[in-house]
Amino acid sequence: MGWKTLDDMDLAGKRVLVRVDINVPVENGTVTDDTRMRRVAPTIADILTAGGTPILLAHFGRPKGQVVPEVSLRPLVPALEAVFGAPVLFCADCRGPAAEAAIGAAGADTVVLLENTRFYPGEEKNDATLAGEVAALGDIYCNDAFSAAHRAHASTEALAHLLPACAGRLMQAELSALEAALGAPKRPVVAVVGGAKVSTKLDLLGNLVSKVDTLVIGGGMANTFLAAKGINVGKSLCEHDMADTAREILTKAQAATCAILLPVDIVVAREFKAGAEHETVPADACPADAMILDAGPKTVARIADVFEDARTLIWNGPMGAFEIAPFDAATNAAAQQAAKQTKAGTLISVAGGGDTVAALNQAGTAEDFTYISTAGGAFLEWMEGKTLPGVAALEAS
Ligand code: ADP
Ligand code: MG
Repeated sequence: MGWKTLDDMDLAGKRVLVRVDINVPVENGTVTDDTRMRRVAPTIADILTAGGTPILLAHFGRPKGQVVPEVSLRPLVPALEAVFGAPVLFCADCRGPAAEAAIGAAGADTVVLLENTRFYPGEEKNDATLAGEVAALGDIYCNDAFSAAHRAHASTEALAHLLPACAGRLMQAELSALEAALGAPKRPVVAVVGGAKVSTKLDLLGNLVSKVDTLVIGGGMANTFLAAKGINVGKSLCEHDMADTAREILTKAQAATCAILLPVDIVVAREFKAGAEHETVPADACPADAMILDAGPKTVARIADVFEDARTLIWNGPMGAFEIAPFDAATNAAAQQAAKQTKAGTLISVAGGGDTVAALNQAGTAEDFTYISTAGGAFLEWMEGKTLPGVAALEAS
């Protein structure tokens, strides 16, 4: 891995500019979920322990290059102090004399929080001048915001070229897990891709078939593949205009000797609601007036067989309409199988995606996966095989 960590840096007495993602939900001025703050806490603690001053850089909301008081970072100070167990000194600018003065005034064991980087138009333009002004405030740059690494912004990309740069602990954990799953994975590797639509995950499917040994396709997008094979999917969620694309992916998989597992049996219902009357039928027997909402038990058994043989699993997208029972059954069963093997030490399991994380939490298995990425768009772009500018900049530094 071509990037440095905090362990490679001499932090004593240094001003460390730390790019974090603390884009937390706030209601009536109160932080309602401090998960993102807790995830960067180890980085802050390590810098303080080593005698450095952490200076936080972060975006918040979408002010689009203007000062928008509603998305100031100032209201986050009490929650940050509670999570870090250290005083947090806020500065209403992220560059210039005010920021310099605030950093100069910060005592030992104090964290400095600079104002929303997106208050400046240069941030989203990856502007060199803004990056230079911010760089003047610090001695070291530490990026701990993997979830923002798919964007080339001044605080995630340009800045990394101007100072000695390293990954924070969260970034380090995320990159290590992803490297273990797709970089140089233990084989066989199985990927599970589900969710609603093929059209949102084309690049991801295209990349995975060239990298993994088996691709399990589930959820709504499996319907599109079944339809592309000439199977009638009734009233199911299905992108009929993606049939050619689906066939291309299947051809590409064959050329790359990637096995594809599609549902062999399906759970169908006439209504999209919890507890709807349902039946299990073969994959090619969806009644014309019904929709496919989950994979059936024979499919689940095949998925378990594939998992049993695998050493690495990468998962994005639920296997069915997991929000409404009992159509969460296939997702839950696959999650439990993966969790069991991971706990036994025979499988490396990495999962990500908004609904996927929700589904694995609902199945009570998230804790047992090797790594759950909460990085959203950055995780998906990484699964698509794209270079993440924020990571590339760390590697170049
Ligand atoms: P993620 O956020 O993890 O990337 P997606 O957003 O792609 O996942 O997909 C999740 C959505 O797909 C869920 O809302 C789920 O209900 C839906 N879904 C899965 N299978 C089906 C299906 N057979 N029919 C309709 N919706 C489905
Ligand atoms: Mg989603």
